[in-house]
Amino acid sequence: MTQLDFPLGNGHRHTSWSATRDAALRQLNTFAPRAGEKYARTRNHDRGPGNRLNVSALSPWIRHRVLLEEDVLTHVFARHSPQTAEKFIQEVVWRGYFKGWLEHRPFVWHQYKDELNRLTDGLGADRKLMKRFATATSGQTGIACFDAWSHELIETGYLHNHARMWFASIWIYTLGLPWQLGADFFYRHLLDGDPASNTLSWRWVGGLHTRGKTYLARPDNIARYTVGRFPLERGLAKTAPPLEEPPPGAPMPVRPADQIAEPVRCVLLVSEEDCHPESWAVHPAEPVAVVGLALTANRSPMPTSPTVRAFAEAAVSGAVTRAAEWYKCPDKGVLPSQDWPEALTALAKRAGADTIVTAYTPVGPVQDAMTAADADLGRQGIRMRQLRRRYDDLVWPHATAGFFKVKAKIPDILRGLGVLAGTT
Ligand SMILES: Cc1cc2nc3c(=O)[nH]c(=O)nc-3n(C[C@H](O)[C@H](O)[C@H](O)COP(=O)(O)OP(=O)(O)OC[C@H]3O[C@@H](n4cnc5c(N)ncnc54)[C@H](O)[C@@H]3O)c2cc1C
Repeated sequence: MTQLDFPLGNGHRHTSWSATRDAALRQLNTFAPRAGEKYARTRNHDRGPGNRLNVSALSPWIRHRVLLEEDVLTHVFARHSPQTAEKFIQEVVWRGYFKGWLEHRPFVWHQYKDELNRLTDGLGADRKLMKRFATATSGQTGIACFDAWSHELIETGYLHNHARMWFASIWIYTLGLPWQLGADFFYRHLLDGDPASNTLSWRWVGGLHTRGKTYLARPDNIARYTVGRFPLERGLAKTAPPLEEPPPGAPMPVRPADQIAEPVRCVLLVSEEDCHPESWAVHPAEPVAVVGLALTANRSPMPTSPTVRAFAEAAVSGAVTRAAEWYKCPDKGVLPSQDWPEALTALAKRAGADTIVTAYTPVGPVQDAMTAADADLGRQGIRMRQLRRRYDDLVWPHATAGFFKVKAKIPDILRGLGVLAGTT
């Protein structure tokens, strides 16, 4: 398995974003002592790529479920009370909230994709838009902070949360660029790029998520929270009027997950959506082979960054190796990203399995690809079973409106997970 290292910039010379679970657990152990009052007090400061000690920098692993929310919460509660770590826990749960919200409104994703395709198709013909877009994405706008964040994103695959907010706000309100192109730029370059957290955060900045409530990047706020790295930026927009779009409508029921009732021979399919197959509720199915699938190219009509591709591929192949050991099935491999349903069918037939077991694929490009493949697999007599995690079952039902509804349920969610000492 390839070991890929990306600069983590957490002040330690030897730490880096490697896609392995060991690396993720090391970073979790390093960060956990700081997840309490220190995190709450300092988390909003973006001290620059060389210093990420005030945040966890765990998002690339959490996003691919190399690290589970339960892992993070258990480690944090070993050192802090729920009260002391309240702010950090809320941030961890924001991810589940966004995932659940999009599960209830998949059309918001499809609308984003359609509009993005329309915009990218039209870029060649609209030279002015193309020029402004190229200037922004190559960090040549002349707005020092924005240009620095463009470079940092491309080079490291990470931006601090506050920088993401300022960046999105300047993109929309100062540069007047379509939010979908900005969301796509992030999604192609972030190691933690996620269809829910990314799309909905961009919508939040533009006033489409919390209707009418927008986020304005202010020069004094940037100067203060970048600890003087970007003193009073000139020329930033002074107002942030909400973007307009018809309301997304009422939440739909979440797509049902599958259960495994009988002891069937199965192939485990590990995608970049969930790289911890050891904890899937596979029983009573009997895995006879494990395969991986990374579909990072499906994120965008434009090329996904090599750094992002390499991280996701390494996360998937690491998970395949661990799963093959865990389930004792030596038959393992990685599927090609083109024509993968055919390769998967051939492998299942060779292994004498008519069932594919995978993690529930949430709304996004991997789900789009799995849905498109489902009918073909069915015609070959192969059925796919998607297992949903308890964490998602506990969080998603409350993610129908604003975050406050989920926040109020955090004590129940933690009890339901059994991550607090003395609970089950
Ligand atoms: C425009 C924009 C785009 C974003 N795109 C993504 C994305 O594609 N993927 C992604 O994981 N996060 C995204 N975020 C949320 C947030 O910026 C990152 O999760 C966070 O910066 C990751 O750094 P960290 O691990 O050090 O976070 P910490 O502050 O240490 O938080 C711990 C964990 O909580 C979760 N989390 C924290 N803040 C948020 C948040 N606001 N929304 C959702 N989850 C959160 C992450 O899993 C994170 O690893 C976006 C935010 C904005 C404003």
